[in-house]
Amino acid sequence: MPFDIAAEQTFLTREEAALCGLSRFWTGRPCKYGHVSERYVSNRQCVQCNAEQTAERDRRCRAIDPSYRMYRSVLNRSGQVLMGRESPSNSVGCSQEDLKQHIEARFSDGMTWDRYGQWEVDHITPLSAARSLEHLIELCHYSNLQPLWKRDNLAKGGA
Ligand SMILES: [Zn+2]
Repeated sequence: MPFDIAAEQTFLTREEAALCGLSRFWTGRPCKYGHVSERYVSNRQCVQCNAEQTAERDRRCRAIDPSYRMYRSVLNRSGQVLMGRESPSNSVGCSQEDLKQHIEARFSDGMTWDRYGQWEVDHITPLSAARSLEHLIELCHYSNLQPLWKRDNLAKGGA
């Protein structure tokens, strides 16, 4: 493992960590939830509490908001094909709210957010048609996305 000051878990005050340009510091003392974890220099928050809150927020948003699940799924799909060569959110090129409106404007009869899963987000020109990285990035763009009933998407080849 390469030398890493943060990973050494040397006890540091927040001021010492900030002085050394570190984003995290280590006090060796547990947070109020008992995590003996590093803290962020910026706001003193426990790194593990922060990770747990992020995961909890993600879980709740997935449960209550189909458009959140859709947006995460579109980003995941783009991430899988881009494989780190370009940022998924840059390639998709819009916010969750923008994508929600874009997709909703293209609903066909009977499509609602409650029925997300019965319909899917389809790439109008399939990602498999990409001839180059630049072309692939273009195809990830939200303007290439439409809602499609699952059975129609399967008939199309699931792309
Ligand atoms: Zn904590």
